[in-house]
Amino acid sequence: MSKRLIIGNWKMNPPTLAEAKRIIRSTRTVAAILEHTDVVACPPYTYISSCISKKSHIVSIGSQAVSIHGGGAHTGEVSAGMLNDMGVQYVILGHSEQRAAGETDEIISKRIIATLEAGMIAVVCVGEKVRDEQGAYLDILKDQIKHTFAGVPSKYAKNVVIAYEPVWAIGAQEAMIPEQVYETSLFVKKVFSDIFSQESAMKVKVLYGGSVNFRNAGDIIRVGKVDGLLVGRESVNIPGFKELLKAVDVVVL
Ligand code: PEP
Repeated sequence: MSKRLIIGNWKMNPPTLAEAKRIIRSTRTVAAILEHTDVVACPPYTYISSCISKKSHIVSIGSQAVSIHGGGAHTGEVSAGMLNDMGVQYVILGHSEQRAAGETDEIISKRIIATLEAGMIAVVCVGEKVRDEQGAYLDILKDQIKHTFAGVPSKYAKNVVIAYEPVWAIGAQEAMIPEQVYETSLFVKKVFSDIFSQESAMKVKVLYGGSVNFRNAGDIIRVGKVDGLLVGRESVNIPGFKELLKAVDVVVL
């Protein structure tokens, strides 16, 4: 069995570097005792270098953003090459908060390619905004995935992780029910298979994200049968994330 992958999206948190250091230290301490789980932390840019440890690779570090450009006159941007040079291994792309701020599928596709060309893993977020009884959301989801991956060479499919994040479940009170997580993650894999290949779809990790906490994480893995989780708020809550990681690690399928 390949290891489960838990990615913490810290978003624009915590407010100080001292707190960021506390969170990464605690995450590392728990990650060190896990047997079946790989852990990635994605802090804001400004904390990345302090969160990367030259001595310990127990927690991998990801970025929450990357430029489509390789370098030059692009004020405020950070390139994939720069991130990779610092030791960043993952980049979260296509997050609904970025999509809501105007990021298009076309731009996301360029960011994915920049990330993959630099040798990092692209964590690509997809998910419907709403669910309707008739199932139109499935077509919307399919189109979104197809457009997001448009132009991404199939040789890179092995370096992609998909984070299925129904937008309505992000930052909400409740996560999606695990049975729906199971059904929809299978659908996502099917679309990935249509875009790349069946072999790529068998290998791609599909994570679930949206209001995961230490109470529901185990069931989402057990019943939802996903390969891991993308965790927002709970990833910067030291006691909660600690319990979440332990709960995921003990699930036996
Ligand atoms: C996210 O923003 O990717 C996320 C899953 O957030 P939360 O866990 O807070 O719903």
